[in-house]
Amino acid sequence: MSYDFSHLHRFPGGLRLASHKDLSTTRPIAHLPLPRRLTLPLSQHIGLPAVPLVEAGERVYKGQMIAAAEGYISAPVHASSSGTVVAIAELPIPHPSGLSAPCIVIDTDGKDEWLPTLAGVDDVLLRDPAELRNLIRNAGIVGLGGAGFPASVKLNTGLERRIDLLVLNGAECEPYISCDDLLMRERAADIIAGLRILRHVLNAAQCVIGVEDNKPEAMEALRAALAQGPDEGIQVVAVPTRYPAGGEKQLIQVLTGLEVPSQGLPADLGILCHNVGTAAAVYQALTRGHPLVSRIVTVSGDGVTEPCNVEVPIGTPIAELIAFCGGYTRDVRRLLMGGPMMGIALPSDQLPVIKTCNCILAATDATLAPTKPQLPCIRCSECAVACPANLLPQQLYWHAHARDLDAVQEYDLFDCIECGCCAQVCPSHIPLVQYFRYAKTEIWDQEREREKADLARLRHEFRLERLEREKREKAERHKQKRKALDTPAGDDDPRKAAIAAALERVKARKSVADEVPRNTDNLTPEQQRQIEEANRRRAAARSHKADTDNGAQD
Ligand code: SF4
Ligand code: SF4
Repeated sequence: MSYDFSHLHRFPGGLRLASHKDLSTTRPIAHLPLPRRLTLPLSQHIGLPAVPLVEAGERVYKGQMIAAAEGYISAPVHASSSGTVVAIAELPIPHPSGLSAPCIVIDTDGKDEWLPTLAGVDDVLLRDPAELRNLIRNAGIVGLGGAGFPASVKLNTGLERRIDLLVLNGAECEPYISCDDLLMRERAADIIAGLRILRHVLNAAQCVIGVEDNKPEAMEALRAALAQGPDEGIQVVAVPTRYPAGGEKQLIQVLTGLEVPSQGLPADLGILCHNVGTAAAVYQALTRGHPLVSRIVTVSGDGVTEPCNVEVPIGTPIAELIAFCGGYTRDVRRLLMGGPMMGIALPSDQLPVIKTCNCILAATDATLAPTKPQLPCIRCSECAVACPANLLPQQLYWHAHARDLDAVQEYDLFDCIECGCCAQVCPSHIPLVQYFRYAKTEIWDQEREREKADLARLRHEFRLERLEREKREKAERHKQKRKALDTPAGDDDPRKAAIAAALERVKARKSVADEVPRNTDNLTPEQQRQIEEANRRRAAARSHKADTDNGAQD
C-alpha cells in the first residue's frame, strides 16, 4: 500500500491550545554538569522492572548494564556515569502512584568514563535486522515521547506483520514541551540516520516524519539532513497544530486518514510509529555503542527562572536540574513531569529524571489555572465533542464514579489516551482524567489479583495431583513387595532361594543350640564323654529319620 501525504486528514475533537514553547526554545540545548549522585529506578519503562546485576560497593563504568531486562516486555538499565554503587534500595520515583520503587544509587567519580568495551556496529544497514533488534534491546531504548514502551518490542511487530509505513513522530503537541523541537533543529542528521536504521529493521516500504507546523526550523533542519543523502522518498510533512496531534493514533489519522481500530495497534494497519528522540537514540546505540544514559528535558513554566532544554544524565535529581535553570521563581505553586495536559504532579523535586521524563514544568497560577471546585455533571456533552478518541467521557465518568468496572470497559476505557481534552472543556470542572486513570488502575489490579488467584488454584491442583500419584505409587510398591514374599522360592529365583537357605540355617542353629546342654564347664571328663556320645546317637537317629522321610516322599 502506498500513501500520498499531499492531502492531510483530521482526527475528531481535539483543541487549539495557546503555545508556550517559545519560553524554552530561545537557547540551544544545554548540558548539565555531572551530578554527584545518580538514582536509577529499575522500572523506567512499560513492562517488568529490570533485575540488578551489581551490588553495593561495586565500581561501574558509564554505559555499563547495571540491571537486565526481565521478560519480553522490559528494558535494561545502564549506569549514566562512572562511579560506585552505594545502595540498591526502595526510593521515591516520579510516578502517578507516588510510591517508592527499587533503585540503584551511584556516587559518581567525576571521570565520566565509558565502559571500554562499548563499540558501534560497522555497516549497520547491511546487518541482519534480528541482530539490530537485539542491540536496540540491550541498549535499553524505550519510547522517548513519554510512553516508555521498549523500542525493540515495538520493532518485533514487524516480524509478525508487514509494515508498509514507518511514521516518525515529531509533532510534540503539548504547549510547553520543546525537547523534540530542539533535537530536530540541532541533531537532525542523527534522527535521519536512526530513521534509516529503523526502516532497515522493519523493511518498511515508506517513511514519513510528521511535524506540527509551528516548528518551521525543525522541519528545515530535517529536510536539509535528508538532502545530504540519497533520495529515499522520505518526506517531512507539516501537520496542523491541534492538540493532541502528537498522539500516535491521531498523527496516523492525520497523515493517512486511517483510524487505528479500537483496542488495536497501528501495526494492524501495517503502520509503525516511533518518536524522533527514539530514532536518535537508536543511531547513538548502533553506531557508537552508547546505550540510553541521557536524554533532553525541557525545563519550563513561569515557576522556573531560566526555562531551557537540557541534556541530562538519567538519574539526575530534579532539584539539580531546576538549580541549573536558575532555580524557582517566588510564585511557583506546582511541579509536573510532562506537560500541563498529560503530565503528572510531583510531590517534590527530590526525585530522579527517568527515561520517560520529557519535561519538568514548574507552574505558577499563571501557568496552570488553580483547581476549581467540582460541580455535578450537567450532561452538556462538551467532553464528547472534544474527545479525539471518539469516546463518551461523561458515560465513562458516570461508571468510573460508580466503580462499575465492567461498564467502563464496555465504553472503551482503554482507548482513552488520557489527553485531558475532556477535562479541559468541562464546565463542571470535573477532573475526568483522574477518574479514568483510577478506573484503569483498578482494572489492572483486579486483573493481577485474578492472575494470582488462578496461579494459586493451579498450584493447589498440581499439589493434590502429585500427592495422589505418590500415594498410588507407594501402594503399588507395597503390593509388589508382598507378592514377592508370599511366592514360594523357585529354582529360577535366586533371591527367594537365598532367603529360604538363610531361614534353614537359622533353624538348624536353633535346634543344635536346644540340644547342647549349657554350663558344661564344671563336668568331669567322663560326664562330658557321655554327653558327646548321646549327641552322636541323636544325630545318627535324625539322619536315619530324614532318609526314611525322603524315601516315603519318593
Ligand atoms: S463536559 Fe462535564 S458537565 Fe458536560 S457532560 Fe461532560 S462531564 Fe458532564
Ligand atoms: S482523556 Fe480520554 S476521554 Fe478524555 S478526551 Fe482524552 S481520550 Fe477522550
